[in-house]
Amino acid sequence: MIKFHNTVRCDLKSPDLVTDELVVDTVAPILDDKFVSLPKSLQPYPWYMMTNIYHISYAARTKEVSLFFWGCNFRCQGCLCKKESRNFLLKENMHLFSQEPDAIARPPDRFLYLGEVIGVLDKLDVRLVLLEGQEASLDPMYPTLTEILHERYGTRNILCSNIYKKPPLKDTDAVTVGLKAFTDSLHRHYTGKSNREVQEHFVELYRSGMQLSVTSLFVPGYIDTDETERIARFIASVDEDIPYVILPYFKAGNNPWRRPTPEEMEDAESVARRHLNKVHAFKGDEEMEYEVARVI
Ligand code: SF4
Repeated sequence: MIKFHNTVRCDLKSPDLVTDELVVDTVAPILDDKFVSLPKSLQPYPWYMMTNIYHISYAARTKEVSLFFWGCNFRCQGCLCKKESRNFLLKENMHLFSQEPDAIARPPDRFLYLGEVIGVLDKLDVRLVLLEGQEASLDPMYPTLTEILHERYGTRNILCSNIYKKPPLKDTDAVTVGLKAFTDSLHRHYTGKSNREVQEHFVELYRSGMQLSVTSLFVPGYIDTDETERIARFIASVDEDIPYVILPYFKAGNNPWRRPTPEEMEDAESVARRHLNKVHAFKGDEEMEYEVARVI
């Protein structure tokens, strides 16, 4: 019999082992031999399953939740998670964009049970959920979680992914694809993997009717204007109305590259506009218009 107490968690792999690890109070279903105290609304769900989620942030103004998943099938040289694993848009993290990396960030040491995630979301007024961080697509709980998001909260669910692997997307409303490079050798160099699957999946998703947008990183002298134009051309070969966002490289990991200037970002944007109708390049000096708060 698996038992839960108010403030302790039971390890499901070893049901007799009760750890002294704290859990979110809304989740703990309360003791004794029956699950009588488990909130009825949680009972239909596999609330006892572990997710890959380790961090949750919330923007009250936009009613937007970001669920951060850990684990990735790429090894991008400039991955921001090497610098900080939590949301860079948190007030306490905004300075990190411009800061030189001095160490590789530690991976998370705690992950959330599905019931804990629901417990957190129940307390928020949420309309939009971004499934991001590293690769949400790799979490076996992804389809269950997105189904719950639709059923319980009626949210719009947006997967941010490299789409090297496609999870079941029945309850996903849009996918933001992080396209690292068009040139395969460059993609392999930057991520450690070919982009063949990524390109195939992109076309498949488009044909399935999924709403798509694309982001890519601009790295001076590496993933530069020419490569940005190749990416834009590829997107336009699928549909020239797919939105494309170009992000400036912020130093992360042990790399020789510098940050692009605002002028370089403007150039990249105008080159991409030759092929696509909806292009935006962040210049790297924007101010946040609303606050993003850490929930967990
Ligand atoms: S795909 Fe994203 S999360 Fe994965 S290594 Fe690359 S930048 Fe990091």
